[in-house]
Amino acid sequence: MNLQLILNEVADEVRNSLGKGGVANYIPALAIADPTKFAMAIATVEGEIYGVGDYGERFSIQSVSKIFALTQAFGILGSDLWRRVERENAGSEFNSLLLLELGGGIPRNPLTNAGALVTTDIILTEKGKEAKAAVLEFLRERSDNPAIGFNEEIAQLEIEHGHRTKALAHLIASFKNLENHPQTVAMLYFYQCAMEASCVDLARSLLFLANKGECPVSKKRVISASQAKRINSILLTCGHYDVSGDFAFKVGLPGKSCVSGAIVVVVPGKMAIAAWSPALNKDGVSLAASEALEIFAQKSGLSIF
Ligand code: GLN
Repeated sequence: MNLQLILNEVADEVRNSLGKGGVANYIPALAIADPTKFAMAIATVEGEIYGVGDYGERFSIQSVSKIFALTQAFGILGSDLWRRVERENAGSEFNSLLLLELGGGIPRNPLTNAGALVTTDIILTEKGKEAKAAVLEFLRERSDNPAIGFNEEIAQLEIEHGHRTKALAHLIASFKNLENHPQTVAMLYFYQCAMEASCVDLARSLLFLANKGECPVSKKRVISASQAKRINSILLTCGHYDVSGDFAFKVGLPGKSCVSGAIVVVVPGKMAIAAWSPALNKDGVSLAASEALEIFAQKSGLSIF
């Protein structure tokens, strides 16, 4: 299969959709993103890289970081993780306070903000003062890019404006499901969202999920094969807020969306893919990136089904 040719065709076909929808505007640093940008990159388990558009351009990885936090927390706690967070689709917004209250402080899944606060808390307990450096190092290692860093402005703006996420952290703490101070946990959560990576970095960084928990390039085991399978299941069922079913229906691959307009997907046994375009549809998912992945899945025939 000529992956580069398919990527070029996909980029051509989504051209008319670029700029449709609206960029996230809850903080100014995201609102200034150029809505017409588009990029897509593929990293294969054989170590090949393919890309189209602005695939080397960096953006804040926002909720994609929840995959990395989940991976690290699952690695630390093993199946005890499931005492602290469920694995059920939330069927609501990513930052719902109501569901958390109803769930007695146990978040519905690790890919909601509440769930990511719990996985972040687990990393904090394990790493202590080194936690911020450790989450950055985790992404640098996975993507094989030591230049990856935090966007300090985005981190600070999220800390200042992320009232709902901070409220979630305090609510979880009120149910005694945090071991660290909710403000410390929220701060690390926001820093993770503000890590900046490109489509190539993200595709590379997720190869371990396409390869039973081991990075096929560095041969480093990140988590067990069984844990990788479970993370992929959660990505399939919960990766796109309350439109995860629709994404599974259209694309048929485990993945994750985020407010900066990136969507990552895993093709087990074969590759990891990142698509990015900042303008979001009404469900908060990148309009052009989701279209691109749908077209890619059709053209390539790649799906887990
Ligand atoms: N930083 C964002 C938030 O916490 C991430 C949300 C997202 O990408 N869905 O609100």
